[in-house]
Amino acid sequence: MTPLGQRLAARITENGPLTIADFMAACLLDPLDGYYTTRDPLGTAGDFTTAPEINQMFGELLGLALAQSWLDQGTPGNFVLAELGPGRGTLMADALRATSRVPGFNAAANLHLVEISAALRARQAEILSPHNPQWHDSIDTLPDGPLFLIANEFFDALPIRQFQRDGAGWAERVVGLSDGELMIGLTPATPFAALDHRLEDTNDGDIVETCAPAQTIAAEIAARITGQGGTALIIDYGDWRSLGDTLQAVQGHAPKDPLADPGKADLTAHVDFEALAIAANDAGAAHSRLTPQGVFLERLGISARAEALSNGAGKDQRAAITAAFHRLTHPSEMGTLFKALAITQQGAPLPAGFAP
Ligand code: SAH
Repeated sequence: MTPLGQRLAARITENGPLTIADFMAACLLDPLDGYYTTRDPLGTAGDFTTAPEINQMFGELLGLALAQSWLDQGTPGNFVLAELGPGRGTLMADALRATSRVPGFNAAANLHLVEISAALRARQAEILSPHNPQWHDSIDTLPDGPLFLIANEFFDALPIRQFQRDGAGWAERVVGLSDGELMIGLTPATPFAALDHRLEDTNDGDIVETCAPAQTIAAEIAARITGQGGTALIIDYGDWRSLGDTLQAVQGHAPKDPLADPGKADLTAHVDFEALAIAANDAGAAHSRLTPQGVFLERLGISARAEALSNGAGKDQRAAITAAFHRLTHPSEMGTLFKALAITQQGAPLPAGFAP
């Protein structure tokens, strides 16, 4: 077992089983051995690749979509340009290069990055320092002002809890010990008010997931936008409503048992976009339709951008652009599994890429 695994086993022996959320939080964020706190996991040499790392088109189009919203909202001066979980900073660097063509946008933007990982903050500083970013541990410390925000593959890293339907109650899936090894167990079933609405669409044995931090963060974003204007673009894998065990571990671009080697693999879960939308509504904001990434990027003009990049490119480069276009948009790749949701003020113009 990894050193973190041994410490978690000791914790379980002392205090009883961990919720999946406690387990996930420890694996990802433990100050000594957490997956994100200790490394840069991105890229071909790392454990997984994200959309902005596939091709510059992704960040460019998202940046321009945000800038269009900024224009539609009357070009507010001195606004907060924020990214949650910026990874290597690639998305924001591509976005700001594209938006430098939008008069006034970059000059009015104050760049704020919410990032927990020291290793990734260093990567972000390498390419974003010309834009004078400020870093935050959480969104609570973002300054006031109109908020134009991007979060790509951030919400999927937030700790989830899992509940298994048992009659009219729910048993929580927890991480315990069996013969000294970590293993999944179930608590006794009890009624759970927060899941009453799921009694209608589940059967005995079904697993549903909740993500309290995601709801809190969505509510905070929505409250800021309701009060001060702005737009949030949230892109992630998941669906309108969670059903089933979606906890997933990935190491070296291959799936892994989530309980094996705590702290050494990336752990994510599907994002329940309905929960984010409800949190946004409750905070007084409006949200867009949940839109498949392929459709979203197509509406933002990815075909035209791919064509423009291909013009004048060599044969190998053209093939790489075509492959990236396919990977980002095709239903068999990221086009359908990944989805986009926007949060705006009630009555604000719909951001580019979304249909009424
Ligand atoms: N958005 C980037 C990186 C996605 S990986 C991209 O698309 O390439 C997830 C990112 O979220 C990493 O930067 C990770 O360090 C950060 N992260 C994960 N959990 C976090 C938390 N609780 N608070 C702040 N940042 C977090």
